[in-house]
Amino acid sequence: MTAAVARRTGLPFVPQPGPDELLGSWLLRVAQLYGLGLAPLLERLGALQTGAAQLHHWFAIDASIVSMEALSAATHLPRSVLATMAPSACKPHWPEELGACERCLADATHAAEPLMWNRNWMSPWATVCGIHGTFLTSVATRRLARVRHAEAFGAAIESAAPAPELLDKDAICASDALWLQALCLARTAVRLPWGRSRPSDLVRIVNALAREVNSVATFERSACGPSANGQVPAVKDFALESAACQRSVTSLPSRLRQRQWVLAKVGHVLRWAVDARTAHASWSSTSVKRLASTGDWPDGALSWVCPNAADLVLRQDELRRKHSISPSYFRAYSALLASIQ
Ligand SMILES: [Zn+2]
Repeated sequence: MTAAVARRTGLPFVPQPGPDELLGSWLLRVAQLYGLGLAPLLERLGALQTGAAQLHHWFAIDASIVSMEALSAATHLPRSVLATMAPSACKPHWPEELGACERCLADATHAAEPLMWNRNWMSPWATVCGIHGTFLTSVATRRLARVRHAEAFGAAIESAAPAPELLDKDAICASDALWLQALCLARTAVRLPWGRSRPSDLVRIVNALAREVNSVATFERSACGPSANGQVPAVKDFALESAACQRSVTSLPSRLRQRQWVLAKVGHVLRWAVDARTAHASWSSTSVKRLASTGDWPDGALSWVCPNAADLVLRQDELRRKHSISPSYFRAYSALLASIQ
């Protein structure tokens, strides 16, 4: 196949993308079919965007790197289909670890089907396989970047890695994590126990709760001594942008297993009423104060998450009405905070 022919007539055959297959995964399979590397294939198809200096990571390929128009013409797949296969942008960096489902890859191997990378695995919110309902296995992102063929997907993941202490010590529920994951990945208004929430509200709530859950874990670890568990979650900001150009910033651990632990806990709090929870039915006074000071909770959300914090907000409002903003208000407010132990 010459470059001129490829550009004029398109590719004579391309494999069909799998359900939820990532664009880069499918392009790796197309390139392999023609005995090419990924970059040479895109160059021959004239699909590299002007200004895209080089192809950094196969898994990050989106419309900023390839021309969807040129790719559509070359592969005879609609642009709309190609656009939905691209990952949501994750800036300024990808998490240190992403997740993949070993069982999905094993099922494909046993069925003699091609290995594919699921686009949903690229989100920092992805912790559980939507098909099998089990926690994803961690993949070092730098290791994933070295993959050159789809057959190498299985080797990229850390096979049968032992569960970390966090997962051993605290029973966390994959169904809670999966429930939250579905809400976060929906990127539309979703129904939560207290009512509908916009995506931006959900992200703010998840961030606030992740901070509290993480602070409890950090406190418990430091109480055991730093050598008892050397994993202090490194929380980073990830700016996510969907195809609809909705941007949100989430603050989560960069390591997958720590994200799984945090998000399963957050999912548990948001999913279950206080009296049905097995954890976080009550919060420390520090958490109560911090949750109360996190502004703009949607109606009913704070009383669901932490009734004591909702009560504190009400009492603070009463003080403000009574004293207005005055020295006496600040004295009364300080006394109110001091009373929460
Ligand atoms: Zn799976």
